[in-house]
Amino acid sequence: MESDINGTYDGANIQEYSSLDPMAKELIDAAIKARNNAYAVYSKFQVGSALRTTTGEIFTGCNVENGAFSPSICAERVAICKAVSEGYREIAAIAVVAYQEHSFTTPCGVCRQFISEFTRKDIPIYVAKPAPVRVLVTSIYKLLPMNFVPIL
Ligand SMILES: [Zn+2]
Repeated sequence: MESDINGTYDGANIQEYSSLDPMAKELIDAAIKARNNAYAVYSKFQVGSALRTTTGEIFTGCNVENGAFSPSICAERVAICKAVSEGYREIAAIAVVAYQEHSFTTPCGVCRQFISEFTRKDIPIYVAKPAPVRVLVTSIYKLLPMNFVPIL
């Protein structure tokens, strides 16, 4: 059976937006709103993200590009840096919103490692499109198995 990243044949990972719990919807909605602020003047690829800390605060981010390209930063890392800079270091859940017609936009490898730095357990990652009908519900351990953890 053919499979694709939209999860057409993998119902376990795809949920209807309308069936999600209110806290998941709240995160996705916050990510959609943050996406509107994306500074994506070069790629035109707008991304929004929102995370909830283990103490219930929500922080949002959008991608911020740069004319020199390499200083650009993803929406997920903006949200995490906002949380950390305000004194919050434990993520409970995170949402990512972008639009690609034929696939969901999962966090890049750098962001997966960045997310894993700020949680001590598996956490849900909601991957949605700006007008969400279906949502890819995954987790940091699924996206980054055997994550790098430095010995301190
Ligand atoms: Zn990224």
